[in-house]
Amino acid sequence: MNWKDLLNETDRCLYCGNGYAEPVSWQAVLGLGEERRLCPACTDKLISIDALSSCPGCSRTGSPILCSDCRAWKEDRFWADHPFTNLSLYEYNSWMKELIARFKYRGDACLAELFTGEIARRLGSAAAEACVVPIPLSEERQYERGFNQAELLAAACRPVNILTRSGQAGKQSKRSRRERIGTADRVFRIDPVSLPDNKGFILIDDIYTTGATIRSAARVLYEGGAEAVSGLTLARA
Ligand SMILES: [Zn+2]
Ligand SMILES: [Zn+2]
Repeated sequence: MNWKDLLNETDRCLYCGNGYAEPVSWQAVLGLGEERRLCPACTDKLISIDALSSCPGCSRTGSPILCSDCRAWKEDRFWADHPFTNLSLYEYNSWMKELIARFKYRGDACLAELFTGEIARRLGSAAAEACVVPIPLSEERQYERGFNQAELLAAACRPVNILTRSGQAGKQSKRSRRERIGTADRVFRIDPVSLPDNKGFILIDDIYTTGATIRSAARVLYEGGAEAVSGLTLARA
């Protein structure tokens, strides 16, 4: 921090580190706005997914009708009677890809703070009525990484860790799409001790790619007595 920064009251972008002047808006004056943490250049690269022009089942961008993947899931006997929809907040563009890599693999855990407020806002009252469950890492992965990115993203929604994950399925990101769709089942288990009375669950994760991981967790919750399970993910790959 130098004197020039102090005099100009600049903030530092949490992502790129560049200083920027905080614009004064009526929202900020009235205390309604969240603290801004991205510079204008980074804010431009953070692209929200418009629910009206994306798949209602998984937030895939490009068309407002149910995508071919979601239709394929619905043909599965289990998913025909157990509805599951995912809402993704942002496009997985190169900026978001780099952000998530920094967040997850390089341990830049404070980047989660950029999104905790927006995630809580988007869940709204649903978060109070349902049980918000972060997709867990395996014990080994959590130990390596030191934190669970999904839990940090859900931090403002009172997340409850009721799932555990076995490490046997291997690293999802290193496996092909076909392998992931076929073998993700039974990776998760419910911890019966921490199971709340709620019958509604919202799963939180960082990226939705094929949906195999989050649906595997949703299936375990349904089999454990859940009445409704949905997902919220930061980005849609
Ligand atoms: Zn920036
Ligand atoms: Zn879809």
